[in-house]
Amino acid sequence: MIASVHIKTRGIVLRLIDYAESDRIVSFLTEDFGKLTGIAKGARKSRKRFANALEPFTCLAVVFSKKKSAKMAFIEEAAIVDHYPCIRENLAKTLTAAYFMDLVDQFLLEGKRNPEIFHLIRDFLLLLEKEKYAENMVRFFELRFLRLAGYEPVLDRCTSCSKPLQASSPYFFSPSTGGLRCPFCADRLGSTDGIPVSVGSVKTLLLGKDSDPAFLNRISMTDQCARECHRLLSGFIRYLLGKELKSLNVLNEVKRMGI
Ligand SMILES: [Zn+2]
Repeated sequence: MIASVHIKTRGIVLRLIDYAESDRIVSFLTEDFGKLTGIAKGARKSRKRFANALEPFTCLAVVFSKKKSAKMAFIEEAAIVDHYPCIRENLAKTLTAAYFMDLVDQFLLEGKRNPEIFHLIRDFLLLLEKEKYAENMVRFFELRFLRLAGYEPVLDRCTSCSKPLQASSPYFFSPSTGGLRCPFCADRLGSTDGIPVSVGSVKTLLLGKDSDPAFLNRISMTDQCARECHRLLSGFIRYLLGKELKSLNVLNEVKRMGI
């Protein structure tokens, strides 16, 4: 990036912090420059340059400048590309979008270009906006995101003996190795720390990993399958990040309360 040139890109708002009297510090996932954090001077006052565009998970056309040595960019203008009004009208959808932003923010480092992840988020926000809410969308997003972020779990074979998935149950998912163990290897290795998962649930995840996003809502999950997939992916993400994500806990709590 060259100093003092105005650069235009699309970005999705990951996180916002109010700063000083009227500024905001904003983290975006941009299409062309990866994760980018910048200061929007006067953002809480200037309707001309920002027009209330800076809100979580909004997709924006952003103009920014950044000096080579600076950690933070100057956000000069932002205009709304997609505001996702139907997501904002629905609590479960809003919390899901907030969880997606949190996940991306926690995993990605600044300045590493990854347009595939930008497009993944766009696809899933569009699904949330248009389709009825379904929990499997959260699992399929996690799975696809992990793949693009370089942490794809191995789900099509046993990571110990390499034999492909067989119909016998249950398998065990080991967060520390990022893959499945067949019942035989789990027994042979005496490992009881794996997360038990049925072959049916693994096959549902494999199906959701590669389907066209537009057809994901056609893949249904039984309650048991949803529980197992949740346990497996949440356990793996917790292991990779070394912590629980608060946004996921809030989403789970609201679902438990049946809101
Ligand atoms: Zn095995």
